[in-house]
Amino acid sequence: MPLISIDIKAGTLAQPEKSAEKDLIVGIDLGTTNSLVAYIQPETREATAIKDAQGSNKLVPSVVHFTPGGGILVGNEAKKMLVEQPQNTIYSVKRLMGKSYTDVKQYAGFFGYKIIDDDTESLVKIKVNDRFYTPIELSALILTELKNRAEQALQQTVSKAVITVPAYFNDAQRQATRDAGKLAGLDVLRIVNEPTAASLAYGMGLNPNDERTIAVYDLGGGTFDISVLRIENGIFEVLSTNGDTFLGGDDFDRAIMNHWLQEHGLTPETLHHNKSLGQQLRLLAEEAKMALSATQTWQGMAGNLHCSLSRIQLETLIAPTVERTITCCRQALQDAGLTAEQIDEVVLVGGSTRVPMVKKAVETFFNRRPHDELNPDEVVALGAAVQADILAGNNKDMLLLDVTPLSLGIETMGGLMDVIIARNTKIPAKAGRQYTTHVDGQSDMRISVYQGERDLVKDNRKLGEFSLKGIPAMPAGLPKVEIAFIIDADGILQVKAKELRSGVAQSIEVTPQYGLTEEQMATMLLDSIQNAQADRQVRALQEAINEAETMAATAERFVTKNTEMLTPEEIDQTLLLVQDLRSVLESGNKDLIHQRIETLNNFTRPFAERIMDIAVAKAMKGAKI
Ligand code: AMP
Repeated sequence: MPLISIDIKAGTLAQPEKSAEKDLIVGIDLGTTNSLVAYIQPETREATAIKDAQGSNKLVPSVVHFTPGGGILVGNEAKKMLVEQPQNTIYSVKRLMGKSYTDVKQYAGFFGYKIIDDDTESLVKIKVNDRFYTPIELSALILTELKNRAEQALQQTVSKAVITVPAYFNDAQRQATRDAGKLAGLDVLRIVNEPTAASLAYGMGLNPNDERTIAVYDLGGGTFDISVLRIENGIFEVLSTNGDTFLGGDDFDRAIMNHWLQEHGLTPETLHHNKSLGQQLRLLAEEAKMALSATQTWQGMAGNLHCSLSRIQLETLIAPTVERTITCCRQALQDAGLTAEQIDEVVLVGGSTRVPMVKKAVETFFNRRPHDELNPDEVVALGAAVQADILAGNNKDMLLLDVTPLSLGIETMGGLMDVIIARNTKIPAKAGRQYTTHVDGQSDMRISVYQGERDLVKDNRKLGEFSLKGIPAMPAGLPKVEIAFIIDADGILQVKAKELRSGVAQSIEVTPQYGLTEEQMATMLLDSIQNAQADRQVRALQEAINEAETMAATAERFVTKNTEMLTPEEIDQTLLLVQDLRSVLESGNKDLIHQRIETLNNFTRPFAERIMDIAVAKAMKGAKI
């Protein structure tokens, strides 16, 4: 089930974006828990994460706080407010990017702030004080902080960036990330998959002769991803991804918290009534966990509760969570059709891979020492900086390219999926096809855009829908509507529709409505394989029905228009055969439908030809030669 991102060396394809030449382009890891910005130092050519003004922190917590006075805090200052004012302090906004309320409803309790459901179909909003914010606006605030930080540190304007996203992010989520960049005043030159960036940070794939299979194990604060990549001929291919969008260091913290509550004879319900104690314990649990990556024992206070923990206790508490990540790794290998022995390199990403037990579990599973030389918090941003440098034209050997992970198409008659850009097509890409109307005088055409591999759109995922309005009245079949799909280098889709005879056009931004989890993406691909035969039969039947409906309508129109030139028997018999044909449309028997089409066709052909001859003769008489 390849979810694919490929990186191709220059020379085989177009040159890097010209506008990027000589510019400094930063690489940004817009994370769920923390974000950071990196660049390639011109003198040393080293990828470097940028520190804050005090020269201490590189990580910017992905937290935004709204003060009662209307001020906005981002990063560490905002994180401090999580305890006191959880309802005005937004974290984990990445989880909401490109998602509708329906998508996140079941997790709504996870967020300490208010997620709004005004229309379950539309994208979520967050209510803070009396204002509504979109996840895009909130992410833009984090990106603005990173941009400001880079500008201050580098003493120059920073207006271009490469931003990373998880490999399983769909169009909606990539688009949302891109829009957030735009809102922050950044020209987002490329959206790059996080595992690809992590591999690039380790220099993997930079040599065109590299041939390696890499597992990227990414355990952050709230999410876990495992990606299996293959580098061959300078191409990065994502062979499989797996993971859990609600599994990470936060689970470790929760396990520690529950352990302490138990020790003090308290229950998790206690925290419902005392949110502040809950947040204090949460932060303290995290502190303990982090300290125990380096030491064997730890102790501290939450209010008047004395809390302590040893590394051995921690390992017992987190063992089930660590085991869940290994189960995902097993599944990812299986999906890629590989064994652990076939993995050449393992790369660790995410702050939680600092936990010694996690490292050990990964090493044991892959039977290989994972790469942890680079800071696991920084590795994705550093790789994004490497990518940015390539785009800036400083590394002429490389050009990164992607392909579409799922097919893109539109709905045609009978709910069939008509693929316009097939899965695994290299992007940027443009493709188009012509369609027509089914009803006389039809002035509107609804265009529904879908993503997926199944033959019926109902089994695929709807990305959006729009109407081409104002088509001049014409008989059915006459208008020529050209539908063009354009995907840019980030995999973001734009759909254009134009009626060629009249020139009526509509250039529409498809606003994808739903997010898609990696599990759903995997399921979609798997379903398409498992249902291939059944789908083919359904499609063949639906195509027969479509043909029958068109044929029946044409025959009816024909007899109505040409009543004088037909005998009453011809009219009656035609209408009877139309009725016969319509009566089997529901039968589910494609052969029977074809048979009746044939019968109707055979019966009408002689007089249709006769009438055609008369029409031609008339036209010839009237024609001036
Ligand atoms: P990320 O989402 O990649 O920024 O990772 C953040 C997660 O890493 C949080 O759950 C942190 O508590 C965790 N983390 C950071 N440093 C350490 C450490 N030294 N030991 C254990 N966990 C850590």
